[in-house]
Amino acid sequence: MRILPALSAAFLFASAAQAGAQAPQTPKLMVVISVDQFGASLFDEYRPQFTAGLARLASGTVFHNGYQGQAATETCPGHSTIMTGSLPARTGIIANSWYDWSAARADKRIYCAEDERVPGSSYRTYTVSPLHLKVPTLGDLLKKLSPDSRNVAVAGKDRAAVMMSGHVADQRWYWNGKAYATDLKGAPVPPSVPVSNDRLAKFIATAQAPLVPPPYCQSKARPIALSNGETVGAGTLARAAGDYDAFKESPDFDGATLAMAGALVRDLKLGRDKAPDILSVGLSATDYVGHAYGSEGEEMCLQMFGLDRELGDFFKALDSMKLDYAVVLTADHGVEDLAERIGVARADPALSPKTVGMEIAKALGIQGPVLSGGIGGDVYLDPGLEAEQRARAEAEALRIYRAHPQVEAVFTKADLEKIPLPAGAPDKWTLAQRARASFDAERSGDFVVLLKKGVSLLSKPSEGDVATHGSPWDYDRRVPILFWRPGMAPQDREDAVDTANIMPTIAAMIGVPVDTRSIDGRCLTGIGGISCPAP
Ligand SMILES: [Zn+2]
Repeated sequence: MRILPALSAAFLFASAAQAGAQAPQTPKLMVVISVDQFGASLFDEYRPQFTAGLARLASGTVFHNGYQGQAATETCPGHSTIMTGSLPARTGIIANSWYDWSAARADKRIYCAEDERVPGSSYRTYTVSPLHLKVPTLGDLLKKLSPDSRNVAVAGKDRAAVMMSGHVADQRWYWNGKAYATDLKGAPVPPSVPVSNDRLAKFIATAQAPLVPPPYCQSKARPIALSNGETVGAGTLARAAGDYDAFKESPDFDGATLAMAGALVRDLKLGRDKAPDILSVGLSATDYVGHAYGSEGEEMCLQMFGLDRELGDFFKALDSMKLDYAVVLTADHGVEDLAERIGVARADPALSPKTVGMEIAKALGIQGPVLSGGIGGDVYLDPGLEAEQRARAEAEALRIYRAHPQVEAVFTKADLEKIPLPAGAPDKWTLAQRARASFDAERSGDFVVLLKKGVSLLSKPSEGDVATHGSPWDYDRRVPILFWRPGMAPQDREDAVDTANIMPTIAAMIGVPVDTRSIDGRCLTGIGGISCPAP
């Protein structure tokens, strides 16, 4: 694509500003926040409790029926929709990982945000990269239009930072388990980064006392004993000195990411000149708390109060810098609460592709694994099978899965290739359409297995992982989408909209033209201060 001269961009943004009420002034800093695993049911429940950052955002335009419409409700696909205006079927980010049998390494499992071509990159110790994102982000488009604009991301997870910022980021920082790190080799390191990392290391080295639960959280404290010997439900997120896992499972983690975001705004002087800047922020603690304790206990309650407070402090810091900024907040997916608390079944371990594959190998006299993949998602046939064996193995696999009482539907590649990409209100999409929204012919499995509503995708609880998401059901799909700018009139919207609509809406806000044929989302009309382009 041709890079427009900077003059055009300056003219474009100036003309939007001069048009006054018709086209409101472009915010100088667009802050886009994704709260990992912040499902709409959490937002709805805690909304009356919020007093700080989330209360501020809830006083803007609130879509509490936002959707990550796709069936594969995982972190990487979810983050790939927010800033691209596209469904995972178009972004290519169909899951957190997939199999690429043509990969030039022994391990064919590919992490969504890696460059597996780099020697030494593996599924576990990967080289972080936006390589697999097939489309540009809004930041990528903005940089082409206005090279003086900055596209910056900071997140608790590398995949959140990568998928929200895309291919042309100026700065990208994410927690690597010990410190905030970057994959951008040439970019100068802002002075606050090493300072913040040092301060954080000292902070984590110090023990954290149990958090004092507000009365609302006390009322939720009910211990639940799990089969792995753990008890959850009435925890207070205390941390032993040097416990990095416990740090991630606490509001302190979001506080650290937001502090880093604020420091980058200051260091890089974001929002200070004519060219608008984008700051993408990925807050991951809610997801770690949800996986470790579930979403309806005292632990998540403490996280919700902490998140609200940390966001409030962040916005106050931006206010003190006198910046003209706007905020959008959403989530990459929701979650299902702990199976033992809500009384639902966990997935039968016999549904694992490995187990089903062994059964098929025995029945058909085939050597090898036959099937790869996880429970309740894409399943891949062994590419080494001869055509005739392959056909028989697939038929047998479909028969076994479809006969299982926990299986709702199985869609093959051929089934999904026939369906057009879904559009319109995502609450009305059929299960097949949800699966189609996660389908990419190159990367998806040979078939996808969707379990019945309620069945937890985790066969058994393990430490740090007792509850999860990833299903095509609305507890995993429905997320809040909040738009806020100073002076925006409060508005509660009931219409169901996909997160793919966020990017074209922000594009309208900051004056970036988007070719609607290249994305799935549409600019959301009726939001105060945002004029959507004529269709
Ligand atoms: Zn996530």
